Amino acid sequence: APQRETHAFQAEINQLLSLVINSLYSHKEIFLRELVSNASDALDKLRFRAITEPELLADAPELELRIIPDAEKNTLTIEDSGIGMSHDELVKNLGTIAHSGSREFIQAMTQRGQKDMQLIGQFGVGFYSAYLVADRVEVISRAAGKDTAAWKWTSEAHGTFTVEPAERAARGTSVILHMKEDQKEFLDEWRLRSLITQYSDYVGHPIKLQVKKTTGTGDDAKTETALEVVNKASALWQRSKSDITDEQYQEFYKHLTHDWDAPLAWTHFKADGHQQFTGLLFVPKHPPFDLNAQQQRGVRLFVKRVFIMDRCEELVPQWLRFVRGVIDSDDLPLNVSRELLQDSQVVRGIRKHVVKKSLDLLEKMSKDKPEDYKEFWKSFGTVLKEGLATEAEHKDKLGGLLRYESSREEGLTSLADYVSRMKEGQEALYYMYGESRKAVEDSPHLEALKQRGYEVLFMTDPVDEWAAQGLREFQGKPLVSALQADLKLQATDEQKKEQEQSAEGLKGLTSRMKDVLQDSVREVRVTDRLTDSPVCLVVPEGGSPAYLERLLQQRGK
Ligand code: ADP
Ligand code: MG
Repeated sequence: APQRETHAFQAEINQLLSLVINSLYSHKEIFLRELVSNASDALDKLRFRAITEPELLADAPELELRIIPDAEKNTLTIEDSGIGMSHDELVKNLGTIAHSGSREFIQAMTQRGQKDMQLIGQFGVGFYSAYLVADRVEVISRAAGKDTAAWKWTSEAHGTFTVEPAERAARGTSVILHMKEDQKEFLDEWRLRSLITQYSDYVGHPIKLQVKKTTGTGDDAKTETALEVVNKASALWQRSKSDITDEQYQEFYKHLTHDWDAPLAWTHFKADGHQQFTGLLFVPKHPPFDLNAQQQRGVRLFVKRVFIMDRCEELVPQWLRFVRGVIDSDDLPLNVSRELLQDSQVVRGIRKHVVKKSLDLLEKMSKDKPEDYKEFWKSFGTVLKEGLATEAEHKDKLGGLLRYESSREEGLTSLADYVSRMKEGQEALYYMYGESRKAVEDSPHLEALKQRGYEVLFMTDPVDEWAAQGLREFQGKPLVSALQADLKLQATDEQKKEQEQSAEGLKGLTSRMKDVLQDSVREVRVTDRLTDSPVCLVVPEGGSPAYLERLLQQRGK
């Protein structure tokens, strides 16, 4: 018969453990949120699978969480009747870290010796937060389905864990925390009750707390235990807006994302035209450490209150990948597949709505809370700009959301403010693209513009030039690169005449230059765009834009 096996944790788990212990010692109570969230995920997964395999629910239809403090044994047990784990799943899920991104993150954090709560919180400390309050953890789990066996995982977190056969009457998981000497407060009924209300009220399954009840008096007094539901157990987004406080929205966001910080803004809406769905979308304050990774994208999809999948990409375009939240559709079938999502009229409709709601939310933030918007822009501006480059549809709205530094002074300006400052006779918004503020500021290409008192937008983000090409114009005025050869600035007749004369006079020089430079340049000509510098390079009309040249150069073409 199989006996107890000892396994070593993957090296990163040890790093993660010490990171958790060292960074979160003053936030020990988060272990409960993490373990409840895992139990709730396990119930969601089961309910989802039971759509196609109803027999999984057969012997124990109840989907619930139980929290059982035991002062005598000094244990706190968090139990669920969810999907459970097999032997191999216990070893894999609780002994290794799945995402390669997470591994890199842990290594980076460890190397820097950083105790950055915000970052590690966002990353989601998960199961290992149990060791904030427990010195030994046992997990007894039995996978849902016929003929499954129960297994017990045990560890004191000193580099190894053991797995052995166990007893469990039905599917699900029990996480048994053997509390540290100084953490017994978490066995207190009132402490637990208030933590659950604070962190887990919105969990969509009943959370039952085991409490002591005394009946009778004197010699007849009897103390019994009873299970009491302590959360609302209804999906937060299904409640009416007026019944939800800001704090509840914020806690729900934290539950959803594991972020420590409150979101910058949120929008909660119901669509009930020819499509019925509810949405609750959040804009985070900080970018996640792997913002650029594809996997970050998407919101949670529910169908008729049943959890279907996390990070459903089909509901959000790439350039809104920072938006987090929930969509709950009444129209999609419960057994919706990836293929169906990709090819669904319903999904396209929802996505359109999500884009509109997100843009409205950002617009409102930029008007009502400019400081928050600045923070948003710092975190996600470069992502939002991708929208201009890839989709023409939202050009006008996106144009209004752009912020750039400019030649005016330090700080960011909107395009609308730029336009309101345009000089008499100025017909375009001018921008200069370069590697850094310093590089664009000192560029000879700006001289003629500066001389005329024209403001120039500084674009220093790799996506900027691409985005500017996508935008093309703002409030009916063209966006023009300072590098563009046919920069038609207004000159007085006298200036024009002067220029022609000097060009004539310098003909000998320019043609000699062309002879020397030969095919390196297309043309050498006299210009009035320079005031201090003797010469500058410009892109000829019809030439490829500078960013493309750079891109090709980088690729060695
Ligand atoms: P995350 O929840 O972000 O995936 P955790 O560290 O919290 O990370 O959990 C690791 C994994 O362990 C989960 O992804 C899940 O597969 C498994 N797990 C944890 N708790 C449970 C549970 N109560 N029931 C089933 N599986 C669980
Ligand atoms: Mg988790």
